[in-house]
Amino acid sequence: MCGIVGYIGNKDVKSVVLNGLYNLEYRGYDSAGIAFIDRKEKIHVYKKVGKVSVLEKEVLKNISNVSFKLGIGHTRWATHGKVSEQNAHPHTSASGKIAIVHNGIIENYVELKEFLEEKGYKLVSETDTEVLAHLIEYFYTTEELNLLTSFTKALQQVKGTYAIALISEYEPNKIFVARKGSPLTIGLGKGEMFVGSDIYAFIKYTNLVIYLNDENIGIIDGLAYNIYDLEGNTIDIRPVVTDSDLMFSDLQGYRSYMEKEIFEQPLYLKNALEKSIIIDNDDIIFPYFNFFSQENIKKINRIIITACGSSWNAGLIGKYLIEKLAQIPTSVEYASEFRYSSPIIHQNDMIIAISQSGETADTLEALKIPKSNGAKILSITNIPNSSICRESDGIIYMNANQEIGVAATKTFTNTVLILVLLSLYLANGKKLLSTTKMKKMLNELSDIPNKVQQILDQKESIFVLANKYVTKANFLYLGRGINYPIALEGALKLKEISYIHAEGYAAGEMKHGPLALIDEFMPVIFVAPKDYLYEKSVSNINEVKSRHGKTIGIISESDKYLPTILDDYICIPQTFDEFNPILSVIPLQLFAYYVGTIRGLNVDKPRNLAKSVTVE
Ligand code: GLU
Repeated sequence: MCGIVGYIGNKDVKSVVLNGLYNLEYRGYDSAGIAFIDRKEKIHVYKKVGKVSVLEKEVLKNISNVSFKLGIGHTRWATHGKVSEQNAHPHTSASGKIAIVHNGIIENYVELKEFLEEKGYKLVSETDTEVLAHLIEYFYTTEELNLLTSFTKALQQVKGTYAIALISEYEPNKIFVARKGSPLTIGLGKGEMFVGSDIYAFIKYTNLVIYLNDENIGIIDGLAYNIYDLEGNTIDIRPVVTDSDLMFSDLQGYRSYMEKEIFEQPLYLKNALEKSIIIDNDDIIFPYFNFFSQENIKKINRIIITACGSSWNAGLIGKYLIEKLAQIPTSVEYASEFRYSSPIIHQNDMIIAISQSGETADTLEALKIPKSNGAKILSITNIPNSSICRESDGIIYMNANQEIGVAATKTFTNTVLILVLLSLYLANGKKLLSTTKMKKMLNELSDIPNKVQQILDQKESIFVLANKYVTKANFLYLGRGINYPIALEGALKLKEISYIHAEGYAAGEMKHGPLALIDEFMPVIFVAPKDYLYEKSVSNINEVKSRHGKTIGIISESDKYLPTILDDYICIPQTFDEFNPILSVIPLQLFAYYVGTIRGLNVDKPRNLAKSVTVE
C-alpha cells in the first residue's frame, strides 16, 4: 500500500521518480504526488487525484524545463482522509520547506495535531501524515536542532507505523528516510541513490539494495548513506545484491496484468517446481530451508499457518495437505486476528507465514508472539529479502516473478504447489511415504503445468459462461474438503474483480443457512471434481437443482454424470485428489477475469484495493 520513490543523482530526476511511481502504482492508485528540489534549492510540489499519468501531465506542463537535484514521489492508498488533492502526498510543513511522503498510519495523530494547533499550526489536510511535517519543523525551528535530530525527535513521538521519505530546503542535498512497520529500501548506484517501498521502484537502475529495519533513520546524498536508530546511534547495514531474476514485468501484448498472470501460470508452476525444490533421489530439498532439516521437522508437534486474503485460502488447502500427508495437526489463522489473540505456543510449534509481498503488515506482526515463545517460523513469499523473510528461520520462495494485478492468481497457484511440496517433504521426513508413492506424486506434479494449460485452452467456453452470467447480482460458490478453499478463492476473485456479491461456502454447510438463498436467480458454482467427496457434492448439486438454482460445475473430464444435470460446466483434467485445487481454481480465475472485463472494470486495479497491504 502506498508507493514511495526517491532519487538523488545526475539522471533526470523527474523521469526517474515518475518511472518509479509507474512501477509502484500497483501498491496504491487513488492519487499521486511528487516533491523536487531544484538547482536553486527550492521545493516544487505537485499532486493529482487519479493515476500517475495524470500527475505526469501536470509535471510536464509546469516544470518540464526545470532541472532538479533530487526528488521524492508517492502513490497513495488512503487510510485517513478522503481521496483528494489536498490529502495526497507529499505533505509540507507550514513554511513549505519540508516535504514528506508516508506509508503507514500515525495512530496518535489526533494528539499530535492538538499539540500543534495549540502552538498555532494550521493543518490543511485530513490525513494522519501531515502532523509529521509540522512536528519536524517545530523541533527544527523552536529547538534549533539539525534536520536529522528534528526528524528523529518527531519520530520518537509517533505511535503507529511508517515508511517515510523527506526532503527539505533546510538541507537541500539530502533525502531523509525512516521505517517502522512499513517497508523501505535504498538502492545504491554509481554516484546516485534511490529510495523505494520495494525494489521495483528502481530495479532497472540497480540491484544493490539496503533493506532498512524497523526504527532505522537514514540519510542519503548520492555518494554516501548513513543509518541511525531512534536514539541517534549509528547502525551498520550492509547492502545486498538482489536476485537479478526478479525482473520487472511488462504486459507483453496482454490486455491486463491479470490476464497475463493467469495465462503464465504453467510457466511459473514449472519455475517453482524447478527452483523452489531440488529433487534428489526422490527426496525433496528446499534451498533456503535452514532450520527445517528432516531431523528437525520430526520434532514438530503442531503447525499454525497464518496469512490474509488469498494466502489464507491457500493456507486452508495447506492444512488439508499437511494433516493428510504428514499427519501433523495444523490450524489456519487470519493474521489480523491471530496477532491480537492469546495463542498457546510451544517450542515445537512451527509457524508458516504466507505473504506474496512478504510485507503484509498483519502477517508480519502475527509472527511476534510465536517468535518470542521460541516457535520456528517458515515463510512462503514471492519477494526475496522482504521483511517477513528477515523474521524467518526458513523461507520457501513462490518463484512466480512479479505479480502486478491486485488479485492474486499465479502466486496463489504457486503457493498451493509449494504447500503440496512441503507436505510431501514433511511426510517423507516422518517416513510416511513409500518411495513408490513419492515417485508417483512427484511424477504427477511435473505434469500439473500441462494440465493447467489444458484448462487455459478452454478460455473461449469460460468467456461464453461469463457472458451468460455477467448480469447476476449474487453468486454462491460451494466446495468440499480440499476444494472448499477453492470455493472461497473463486468467490473472492469475483468480488475483487467484478464487484459482484459472492459467497464461498463449505457445500455441506449449505443446508444450515445458504440454501434459503436459492431460487431461479441464484447461480451456484460447485467445485466438484471426481475426488473422495464426489458423491457428497453430487447430492448438494441435486439439492440446489430441486430448488431451481442455476448450477455451474467445475468437474473432472472423466465425469459422465454431472454434465447431464448441471446447467453449465467446465472440465478439468484428472489428477490426484491432493493436486485438484491447482486445477480447479483456474476456471474460476478466468471466470472472474472475464466477468470483470465484460463489465468494463479495471481488473488490475480494483477500486479500494491495493496489492501489498502494508497497513493494518
Ligand atoms: N495514512 C496515510 C494517508 O492516508 C498513508 C496511507 C498508506 O500508507 O497507505 O494518507
